[in-house]
Amino acid sequence: MLMHIRKALFFTGLITLFSSNAWAQNNDFKFSPEMVSHNIYSIISPSFGLPTAENKGWNSNSYFFVTEQGVLVFDTGSSEAIGKSIKAAIKTVTNQPIRWIVNSHSHADHWLGNAGIADDNTEIIAKKQAANTMNKYGKDDVKAFARMTKGITGNSQLLYPSKLLTSIEKRSLGNMDIEFIFSNNGHSEGDVLMWLPKQKVVFGGDVLSSDWMPIIIPDANVPNLIATLNKVIKLNPDVVLTGHGNVTTVESVKRDAKLLTHVWQLVKSGYQAGKKPNEIITQARAELTSSYAPLYKNFTSAIKEQITTMYKMQSA
Ligand SMILES: [Zn+2]
Repeated sequence: MLMHIRKALFFTGLITLFSSNAWAQNNDFKFSPEMVSHNIYSIISPSFGLPTAENKGWNSNSYFFVTEQGVLVFDTGSSEAIGKSIKAAIKTVTNQPIRWIVNSHSHADHWLGNAGIADDNTEIIAKKQAANTMNKYGKDDVKAFARMTKGITGNSQLLYPSKLLTSIEKRSLGNMDIEFIFSNNGHSEGDVLMWLPKQKVVFGGDVLSSDWMPIIIPDANVPNLIATLNKVIKLNPDVVLTGHGNVTTVESVKRDAKLLTHVWQLVKSGYQAGKKPNEIITQARAELTSSYAPLYKNFTSAIKEQITTMYKMQSA
């Protein structure tokens, strides 16, 4: 999810104080993992957007799969407490140890749960650039999330990636063949997607979308995002797992690639022709609403944000 919290830090006041009792009650998640493919499970948050008191910080998805040698967890949520709840949910499925955690990227709703899940020997895998950002902003992110959730996400302990991916890697983890795919800053600096070629399942983090529009933040590289979507389409996955929203199929990836290609072209040519963002937004709504509004829960609001962000990228 997009994190403008670093800016928000400057505008918010003191950290909300909270009692440990209230914190414990508020963090009583009972996650029920759903099997999405053989030995692969999802924990899907119904909430989209930033962590809030209402969603108790649970605004992103986590996934895990079970191998003969242990469990791999993909993304760990917005707090240590959520991580603990994910771990408890895993224990309802298997007694295998948690051997690997993959953090799809540095946005704090995808990794602050690490400390709640990891055992002593758990390898935490991420892209090097993402790990750098985590190290730089992790402490601020914990405080910001605590403010945004009125203290509910608490004072999560930070556990950083220990295994840093630098180039395209294929690995066999407990008899599961895995390929890591890099988006080259498609969504954020240091995104990593995970592809299981035998099972034909892709774990996309925030590079892939299902119910909601693709998340475009100012740091995103839209052409590289589109290229990554096209790469995923070529893999032809049976199951597409996203950072937010329900489990989906390759049709969502095709939809996003087509939409983003159209919008990016519209913004680029509009900018070159000297159009103002509002003119491009009006044009985009006229051209795209009937086809795309039924395909996303937030088309109308997100198209405006996307174009505003993409317009600023043209002059950068
Ligand atoms: Zn994100």
